[in-house]
Amino acid sequence: TVRTRIAPSPTGDPHVGTAYIALFNLCFARQHGGQFILRIEDTDRVRSTPESEQMILNSLQWLGLEWDEGPDVGGPHGPYRQSERGDIYASHVHQLLEAGHAFKCYRTAEELDELREARKEAGLQLALKPADLALPDAEVARREQEGWPYVVRMQVPTEGVCVVQDMLRGRIEVDWAQVDAQILLKSDGMPTYHLANVVDDHLMGITHVLRGEEWINSAPKHQLLYDYFGWQMPELCHMPLLRNPDKSKLSKRKNPTSINYYRRMGFLPQAVTNYLGRMGWSMPDEREKFALDEMMEHFDIQRVSLGGPVFDLDKLTWLNGVYLREDLDDAAFLKALMEWSFNEAYVGQILPQVRPRVETLSQVAPLAAHFFSGLPAIDKASFDSVKLDEETLVKLLQFLVWRFETVPAWHKDTLLAEVKALADVFELKMKAFLAPVFIAITGSTSSTSVMDAMAILGSDVTRARLRHAID
Ligand code: ATP
Ligand code: GLU
Repeated sequence: TVRTRIAPSPTGDPHVGTAYIALFNLCFARQHGGQFILRIEDTDRVRSTPESEQMILNSLQWLGLEWDEGPDVGGPHGPYRQSERGDIYASHVHQLLEAGHAFKCYRTAEELDELREARKEAGLQLALKPADLALPDAEVARREQEGWPYVVRMQVPTEGVCVVQDMLRGRIEVDWAQVDAQILLKSDGMPTYHLANVVDDHLMGITHVLRGEEWINSAPKHQLLYDYFGWQMPELCHMPLLRNPDKSKLSKRKNPTSINYYRRMGFLPQAVTNYLGRMGWSMPDEREKFALDEMMEHFDIQRVSLGGPVFDLDKLTWLNGVYLREDLDDAAFLKALMEWSFNEAYVGQILPQVRPRVETLSQVAPLAAHFFSGLPAIDKASFDSVKLDEETLVKLLQFLVWRFETVPAWHKDTLLAEVKALADVFELKMKAFLAPVFIAITGSTSSTSVMDAMAILGSDVTRARLRHAID
């Protein structure tokens, strides 16, 4: 039976690209009566967080993309989190070492830099081959004896071409000369993506791998690993990446890429899923609006076109409007509204902000409007009251966006620390620093506390409003 998977790394916000790839894997599996698996690739222990994992699961669930096996629902091929599969990788690396398909490499970071530098100067391919990395036997023995850290790398051919088949692209040829002696096990004992991904796809019975085209270059290494293990490689299908309207790779610098953003801005999950289904794919009758089960029913991977699909916010917004008008009756609309923001949990967070500032209940809605809106209608004139020159103003907002991109946990305290640090850089008092931020976030010069507002609005809407103020 057909088995597909989505294998996100929980290292940040839940990306629309992850949902897009998940959708196509799900449809492919369902269309063949198969199963769809969710596996968490958290071998990067520094960047992976449980919060990110939870957000990815929540977002995919919100979009209605349901998996048959995964870390939350279990299944016969678990554990479904790579950080819990250490023994499995260790025994497979051992197997490769025994067979001579992999080797321990005691080279230090400085030596690797020197090797690369030397190759660069000699005008050679930059890929480091096993022969380049080799040390005299006695030196290896010494380093081993003295307990130097090492990595395990795979053997790779030095010449010839590697041919991989792709369901959409056909034959892909890569010169072996370009493929380096990939690290399989890091010096901390954790596997790299390549090893863990191949071992897990095999052990989890994955038959078809649909993933982003950014992984094409990894395919030769993967194929070689399958050969070393004596396993059959799943069919590969590299999907075109989502693009910004200017055709560059979709990036959070130009477009919101977090599913959280679309959720917070009041998009309907069925509209987002539908729109993602339009990314490089179309229904046989070309209709724009279709439900997930219709997509599953009519899915045909060969209808994927390789020209980079543009993720266009205006088109998504239009489609969302169609759903609101055509698909939701009054009761469903009310339900959507309540699930979105008009619920106890969200309004409850806002009340402490407005309560001290109102004298009648009718003052609540106008005062709290910015908690329920998208991007405020502001222009240059909105910042007239701010006593900063335009260049400083733009810099201030831009630097704040960049700082906020890397805040590990979105709380008022952590945000305040960022704001204070940046105010120091600009040599501004907090009040002066926050004046333009206030306008960008609340859309006015008098409202509730801006620090609390940012904490409640969340990372995505906050950053979008700051960016919007600059544009
Ligand atoms: P950004 O450029 O916005 O920082 P990124 O490339 O750093 O994005 P990652 O955090 O590396 O994003 O990727 C998260 C997930 O989203 C990965 O699984 C990646 O394959 C997927 N992804 C990222 N960009 C795209 C894209 N343009 N199209 C499809 N999938 C993408
Ligand atoms: N963990 C990889 C990612 O985050 C998975 C790539 C793959 O599907 O092989 O995109």
